[in-house]
This record gives sequence, structure tokens and C-alpha cells, in this order.
Amino acid sequence: MTHHLAIIGAGPKGIAICARAALLASIGKAVPQIAVFEKQQAAAQWNGSCGYTDGQQRLGTSPEKDVGYPYPQNWGPTVARRMQRFSWQAFNVQKGAYTDWIDRGRPQPLHREWAEYLTWVLDEAREFARHVGHGNLITVYDSEVTEIGLAGSMWTITSSNTSHSQVANGLVVTGHGEVDVTPIKQVMSSRPGRVFTGKDFWSRPEDVSRIAQGSTVAVIGSGETAAAIVAKLVERFDRTCRIRVVNRQRTIFSRNETYHENRFYSDPTDWELMSVEERDQFLKRTDKSVVSQQYAEAVSYAEHLRLQVVSVEADPKGPGILLKASGASDVSADYIVWAAGFDPLWFRGRMTPAGRAYVSADPQVVRRKIEYDLGVAGLPDNLKLHLPIPGRGGRLAGLARS
Ligand SMILES: Cc1cc2nc3c(=O)[nH]c(=O)nc-3n(C[C@H](O)[C@H](O)[C@H](O)COP(=O)(O)OP(=O)(O)OC[C@H]3O[C@@H](n4cnc5c(N)ncnc54)[C@H](O)[C@@H]3O)c2cc1C
Repeated sequence: MTHHLAIIGAGPKGIAICARAALLASIGKAVPQIAVFEKQQAAAQWNGSCGYTDGQQRLGTSPEKDVGYPYPQNWGPTVARRMQRFSWQAFNVQKGAYTDWIDRGRPQPLHREWAEYLTWVLDEAREFARHVGHGNLITVYDSEVTEIGLAGSMWTITSSNTSHSQVANGLVVTGHGEVDVTPIKQVMSSRPGRVFTGKDFWSRPEDVSRIAQGSTVAVIGSGETAAAIVAKLVERFDRTCRIRVVNRQRTIFSRNETYHENRFYSDPTDWELMSVEERDQFLKRTDKSVVSQQYAEAVSYAEHLRLQVVSVEADPKGPGILLKASGASDVSADYIVWAAGFDPLWFRGRMTPAGRAYVSADPQVVRRKIEYDLGVAGLPDNLKLHLPIPGRGGRLAGLARS
């Protein structure tokens, strides 16, 4: 079957595209036929059963920033109005929880509730497409994309449990890939129970509960994954353990949330007017390696160590772990959480050489090639690759922050 658009990942970005496509089809616009590949479950990163959260954490951004947000008028007022059928409010109205949510003062949803909402949107989008006579618009494959090849001007997508490759001329890659555990492989086997990753920390509560009072726990990382874990450790061990955050930064930066910064994520009109350096600086302050306000206070109770960790080894003098750093003494810890090493170009490793030829191995180079529609510049006509990361020309509106 030929799909015009293949999407890797049924997270918020993939699901938002499906909702928009179903809606555009309903008003007679030409839309691509979509194949979504999901190796776990829809909204897997939020539901608490696939890592990164236990599902009990609260969404940091406002739930009104839902899949239709920012409801731009550039598709016409009808689209903006009708997208509300996929809104957080519509979801709550349908499940009879809306008045309760309002009366409770509009609490931030738990991650698992946000996963329920996102999964509902995907089901609704498929149902709505069927209802308006586009039953084949969205196909979801419960399978892992294992190879991305090129045949002429089409992508060929091979996945784990589909019998043949799917073909598409547009490809959207979502998500951040898996944690790179290469630096901690050795200690994972020699120090079982003492080494966590940013992904599995939440799914191993029994190991977390074995952390003894007085222990030192080092969390290596600088972004939201690390911050959520530090906040949990601080809450759980309330200064009975020594919690250390280890990264290369001079300090722990908090995310800027002022109107003038937030508004670029809603309406990126002047984004193009900023120099490349200003845009990089903007993203550093508002999106990458910053701690959101919800975790900032808890993180302030942790100790910060500025270190460039070069290797992680078992401590020969005891049961703990040594972080070897460049130009500094070793740091020992009884437990570590490796919440670093995400690769924004993770999909490149799954591309055949023909596909890789269009995607540099340097994330900065790729970022600079991203155009207004989030497409990567320089591909042949008819072949599209969309990476929902804000780049040089890329728009920010509607992007989930990571
Ligand atoms: C603790 C924490 C709190 C956060 N809080 C917020 C918040 O409040 N607001 C916010 O906007 N963002 C928040 N984020 C960031 C948010 O999780 C991500 O920005 C968002 O989920 C990214 O959406 P996505 O659709 O790109 O990818 P993801 O949600 O990561 O989805 C990608 C999907 O792709 C699937 N997949 C991966 N590889 C393959 C493959 N080879 N084949 C098939 N499927 C594959 C995965 O299973 C996954 O379901 C938070 C992150 C963390 C860690």
C-alpha cells in the first residue's frame, strides 16, 4: 500500500498530525494518506508503563495547549473552530469529567491522564475520518520501524511485524530516541540495582525503595528527564540522602516562562527576524537543558556538580560507582541515574546509506537545514523529511517542549 505520509511514533506530535488531517479531509481539503508506526502504545512516553514517568507526575505545560493549540487562523477560521472537537475540554466533556475539573480549579492533569487524552484523540481522529468517508486515511501499525530506505523518490519503511515495507514520499520522525547506555553498560551488569536510566527509573520502584539512608545518588543529565527524577528523589529522601546533579553546565538553568518567550511557541511570526545565534540562545533558555518551574524548587535542594563525565566504572574499593571526569577528580556515588545521552538524530542509525546521505550526522547542521514547515531542506522534489524540532527557519508553534 502506498501512503503519502509515514509517521514514526504515536506521541503528541504524530497524534496531532492525524487529528489535523482528519479535520482537513472532512472539509474537502486534499490530505495525504497516513501510516503511523508505534512500537509501544499511543502516548507511550506519558502513560507510566513505558518509562520516563510513573504516570503520576503532573503535566508542566497547561492542558489547554492541547493537540489543536495554538488554533491558528492560517488554515481558515473553520479549521481552528472545528479542531476544538479534539481539545482537552472536549475530551473531558465526553467522559463527563469537565465540570469536576473546573470545580477543582482546573488542576494540571497527571501524565497518565494526558496519555488517556492523547489516545482518545487518535481514536477520535480515525473514527471521524471514517465518519466523513475517509476510512483509509489513517492506518496505525503496532510495530517498530527497523529500517528507513529509499527507492527512487519514495521512502521505504520496514517495521518489525509487518510483512512488507510501506512506501511513502513524506516522512515525519518524532520522539527523542532511546537513552544511549553505552557509557554505563559495564556498571549496569557489575552493579545491578544501583544503576538506573532516565527511562527505567520510574518502572523500578522496588529498587528505588532500597536506596539506603545516607546514600549518595548522582543524577547525570541537564534536562527535564533528569529534573523530574531529582525532584522525585528530593521528595522521597528529603535530605536523608545526598542528591547530586552532574552535568557540564555552569549551573542548573531554569526554563524561562515569560510572556515574551512563551508567545513564540504560540505564534512564531517574528522568529525569522532573529539571527541564528539569537535563535540558538532562545532555545537554550526556553527548551533545551533547562528545568521547568514545576521542578525548579525541588532541584534547588540537590547539589550541582559541573563535570564532563567521560566514563563510569565500578568502584574497586566498594559496592558503589565512580564517575570519571575530564580534568577533575573522580566522583563516587552509591547509586547513579543516567539521564543523559539522548540522540535527536536517533533515526539516522536506521536509515540505509541512501537516506543517510540527506541527513548530516551533526545535529547542528540538520537544525540549520530545517525550514518553516519543519521539512529538511535539500531533498529531491517529491521527497520530504519532517523533523518536529525548531531549527533555523522552523516554526515553533504547537511544538511540545522537551
Ligand atoms: C518528565 C518529563 C516531563 C515532561 N513534561 C512536559 C510537559 O509538561 N509539556 C510538554 O510539552 N512536554 C513535556 N515533556 C516532553 C514531552 O514528553 C515530549 O516533548 C513529547 O512527548 C514529545 O512528543 P513526540 O510526539 O515528539 O514524541 P514522543 O512522545 O517521545 O513519542 C514518540 C513515539 O515514538 C515511538 N517510537 C520510537 N521509536 C520508534 C520506532 N523505531 N518505531 C516505531 N515507534 C517508535 C515511541 O514508542 C513513542 O511512543 C516532558 C518530558 C519529560 C521526560
